[in-house]
Amino acid sequence: MKTEQVDVLVIGAGPAGTVAASIIHQAGYKVKIVEKMKFPRFVIGESLLPRSMEALEEAGFIDAIKAQGFQEKSGAKFVKGDALCDFTFEQQFTPGWTWTWQVTRADFDKALADTVESMGVPVSYETTVTGIRFDGSDSVTTIEDSNGNKSEIAARFIVDGSGYGRVIPRLFNLEGASNLQPRRALFAHTFDERRSMVTDQPNRITAVVHKPGVWIWIIPFATGVTSLGFVGEPEFFDQYPGTDEDKYRALLEAEPYTRERFRDVKLVFEPKTLQSWSATTSKFYGDGFVLTGNVTEFLDPIFSSGVTLACVSAQTAAKLVIKKLKGEAVDWEKEYMEPTMQGVNTFRSYVMAWYEGTLDTIFFKKDPDPLIKGQICSVLAGYVWDMSNPFVKNHDTALKRLARTIELTEKLKSSSEIE
Ligand code: FAD
Repeated sequence: MKTEQVDVLVIGAGPAGTVAASIIHQAGYKVKIVEKMKFPRFVIGESLLPRSMEALEEAGFIDAIKAQGFQEKSGAKFVKGDALCDFTFEQQFTPGWTWTWQVTRADFDKALADTVESMGVPVSYETTVTGIRFDGSDSVTTIEDSNGNKSEIAARFIVDGSGYGRVIPRLFNLEGASNLQPRRALFAHTFDERRSMVTDQPNRITAVVHKPGVWIWIIPFATGVTSLGFVGEPEFFDQYPGTDEDKYRALLEAEPYTRERFRDVKLVFEPKTLQSWSATTSKFYGDGFVLTGNVTEFLDPIFSSGVTLACVSAQTAAKLVIKKLKGEAVDWEKEYMEPTMQGVNTFRSYVMAWYEGTLDTIFFKKDPDPLIKGQICSVLAGYVWDMSNPFVKNHDTALKRLARTIELTEKLKSSSEIE
């Protein structure tokens, strides 16, 4: 069997794989990406966060993304009945990027992969990793192309950015159970011709609370197409009869916020369903490999954290791989696992607070404290490593405490009004 020799093999040409490949390549190492699919390919995950821009910039991708003319994103809006909470990233507490993009991932991922290829990193499309043998930190990976031809890649290090493919966790039994409840998404791209009838600015995404535990994403693209998806527990969708499209249209009709604008809307593709996406892995690194992006842990789409965590984990991992290849010592637990989990766990607290209703109390409070709103806005912008932000540092307690204070204050206010 033919064997190719590289310094670093990257599995997957999504955001995690391409960011890692670019940074390692720029340090002078021979990198190769193996990607199972032919690009462009559909993948969900269309709303980015400002923090991802730092990693995309270091990877040298910003100009190529700009050239795609994607819709700029400057904030996020939450809606519940008549109540509204609008976050503008300009108001965030943590200094950093205050905007990003809303992207069609097929085009976004292709732009990143084409850019990294043009820098000199070969990308083998329609090629699947089927097996890996480690000998210390050196490895030999078996790959198979679409014609069934097998070959091998010998590498000094592997970066696994295979997303939902979860290559290394599957091959080496590293999969763990998520502590989040299984949820389902039903979504499509819509020809949003009545976009102008609403006061929605296209430069932000909207999350609409439909019922407790059920919410809708609305992500406008620059093309006039809008991504719209429903998320809830799997049983919620079962009450609607018929095909996925029947369910989708019934749901659009059931929610006052979407009813008029999306009634009889033309769909770009039939609604798709995804389910039980939350996953985790017992170990994010090992002798000769590191996991990045969704392979490490994926939580939930509510705060658009997926691509940002993918880019930032890849950026961090790439620098450590370079250190390791230079022969320097790397403390993977301290330098990789801990910061990655810091980001994941901060978002986990927000995801849990969203589904428990704690964030409803905070988001829809009238006249919020601007400092607190800015601190929460920073988390929603992806700045989940800023320990000077109390809503990052104490992510597991701060939201509950704030919601409790709001509830008590409102109770006191209404009882003093009665008196
Ligand atoms: P991916 O983008 O999945 O890329 C992995 C690549 O690896 C793929 O191209 C795949 O083909 C390849 N691969 C897999 N197996 C193999 C193999 N054996 N050999 C070779 N290649 C392989 N995130 C956001 O940031 N914003 C959002 O609005 C958002 N919405 C979401 C909505 C839903 C319903 C869900 C489920 C997720 C959402 N996400 C969102 C998360 C987002 O989809 C992921 O976090 C993101 O795509 C992760 O990037 P990645 O590079 O880790 O993996």
